Amino acid sequence: MKDDNCIFCKLAAGQIPSNTLYEDEDFRVIMDIAPAVKGHAIVLPKQHMNDLLSIEEDTAKKVLFVVSKVANAIKDALGCDGINILQNNGEAAGQSVFHLHFHILARYENDHFTIPWKTLSYTEGEAEEIAGKIRAALR
Ligand code: ZN
Repeated sequence: MKDDNCIFCKLAAGQIPSNTLYEDEDFRVIMDIAPAVKGHAIVLPKQHMNDLLSIEEDTAKKVLFVVSKVANAIKDALGCDGINILQNNGEAAGQSVFHLHFHILARYENDHFTIPWKTLSYTEGEAEEIAGKIRAALR
């Protein structure tokens, strides 16, 4: 299923030209036109799905296989020192296009790319309380 108003559906379908790295029946992987690093790919399912929270097990397996395959190709081709996989779900998490996608970023020692991350501390008992809620939701 496609969403006619979704730019990533159009890119995945090839209706908007892109620098395609990989394509199969279910996915298209393209170079990001506004890269965060030199060697920034985006994995797009061809079927519209809002985010990772709304996908089926079979799709999850397939998409992670494609992410790993392309990440390996980027590492082999560019000789980078590491790879970041970024995936946002929901506006609060930084998602700006509401079509599931994974960013794959080539990383180099001293490349000065940063992902801001400030660590916090739990108050007494707070970690167990939060973990208990998550465990209950998994049942
Ligand atoms: Zn879409």
